[in-house]
Amino acid sequence: MAKSIQSIRGMHDVLPDDSHRWQAFEEIIRQVMASYGYSEIRTPIVESTDLFCRSIGEVTDIVEKEMYTFEDRNGDMLTLRPEGTASCVRAGIEHGFLHNQIRRLWYMGPMFRHERPQKGRYRQFHQLGVEAYGVADPDIDAELILMSSRIWRLAGLKELRLELNTLGSSESRAKYRQVLVDFLQSHRDQLDRDSLKRLETNPLRILDSKNPDMQKLINDAPDLHDYLDEESAEQFNLLKSYLDAAGITYTVNPRLVRGLDYYCKTVFEWVTDKLGAQGTVCAGGRYDGLVEQLGGKASPAAGFALGIERLLALMEESEASPENNAPDIYLVLQGDGSISQGLQLAENLRDQLSALKIQTHCGGGSFKNQIKKADKSGASLALILGEDEIANNTVTIKYLRNNQDQQTVSQDAVADFLQTL
Ligand code: ATP
Ligand code: MG
Repeated sequence: MAKSIQSIRGMHDVLPDDSHRWQAFEEIIRQVMASYGYSEIRTPIVESTDLFCRSIGEVTDIVEKEMYTFEDRNGDMLTLRPEGTASCVRAGIEHGFLHNQIRRLWYMGPMFRHERPQKGRYRQFHQLGVEAYGVADPDIDAELILMSSRIWRLAGLKELRLELNTLGSSESRAKYRQVLVDFLQSHRDQLDRDSLKRLETNPLRILDSKNPDMQKLINDAPDLHDYLDEESAEQFNLLKSYLDAAGITYTVNPRLVRGLDYYCKTVFEWVTDKLGAQGTVCAGGRYDGLVEQLGGKASPAAGFALGIERLLALMEESEASPENNAPDIYLVLQGDGSISQGLQLAENLRDQLSALKIQTHCGGGSFKNQIKKADKSGASLALILGEDEIANNTVTIKYLRNNQDQQTVSQDAVADFLQTL
């Protein structure tokens, strides 16, 4: 036998017994997005490499070591998208829908990063991204946070905590950057290799280090909030007041800086202790400079990205289980003419009762075997179309989950009968 081929390391199939959990989550998302007036945008999975270098920043984990970049047959450098914000902005500039207007957008789909695969960290993973353009005030930051909080509620999740920070304007960050560099320079001996490199290129990112040996030094570092500009401080207070009024609890974490270069002012993360080291389920913030940085007319912007695998893992952990994939009805077909009549009956029922999930038995087999399959499908009813039923234009309803006696009804009346159940 030939050797079988496996999926790529860190890239997983969503198996048929699991897809209903994805669908249930996606359903929640469509509902929430519509209820806040956000529109879906679908962008290509492959973009030119430049787009990510210019937006995410050359000195980030993603651009330095995680991107799937390749040369195509024309010699163009392309990259499988590692995140969705850059594509959104690229599309907005290209189609001119970001300038001088408010745009509320969302997208959902696969992202690619060449990281070391582990629980909650994959090479192909999925994100929901939500982006709002054209609003400089922190009311939109509050809206985004309220929206994420509604998603947790609808998904039955109670354990996510909100961490909040402000990074200030680019001027106040520059001031703080110098103070931070001076401090870190005087503790050079305690910096790991990555941090030594970042000290020259992107010192703020050192605060985002995951290395436990660095945590003490990070805790002793100067506080960014002592260097905040007045406008950022005011906006941060406003945002906090909106969240307080809405009953959203949060912790202000002055060390929260986020991995990507393009953030300013508000940053936030929703975290849990239940997923080990990969505890950040959702992360976002304001990125007012990005549209201009990518060649558009300046536009304020804010958004968040949610890791769907981590969210589903948390739902499983918390036993917040959505509806499963089981059909409501399994149609058992036995005898001459039962297949053509049965296929038609199932179509009629789907026309009349659109919410009903019907699985029609296919592939023949004995009556006993079909009933066994009906039971295994998880359906609560079997509809039986056998020789007697065909002769009399009836259907027999067999209850699979309780001892109720079976009943026979005319085919014309079966939709009404099912409706009453
Ligand atoms: P981390 O610090 O865990 O590497 P990040 O800062 O790189 O996260 P973002 O770029 O902000 O992550 O992406 C937003 C969310 O997407 C994360 O909070 C997480 O839930 C999810 N995510 C990011 N990378 C992965 C991955 N490799 N596998 C699964 N989910 C991921
Ligand atoms: Mg990362």
